Amino acid sequence: MTLSILAGLFLLFLIGIIFYGYGFVVKSTRRADTENMEQCSLCRNNFDKRVLVEREIGDYKLMYFCKSCISALHDAAARIH
Ligand SMILES: [Zn+2]
Repeated sequence: MTLSILAGLFLLFLIGIIFYGYGFVVKSTRRADTENMEQCSLCRNNFDKRVLVEREIGDYKLMYFCKSCISALHDAAARIH
């Protein structure tokens, strides 16, 4: 009887650890996701940093531009000439 109670407690403990570990993994991947996200300086949509073009203004300000904004600028520039 004592053994089955101990076994049950151990099982609960294991389940708790598994859920705790799962929550930790989910949280850390979410944090990694938001770390890699950046807002486009023109359209204000969030994108993965890897698909954004990064430009430094002055010594500190970083600006990010998404592909659709760059092509919109390109089209606008093409219309000037
Ligand atoms: Zn944009």
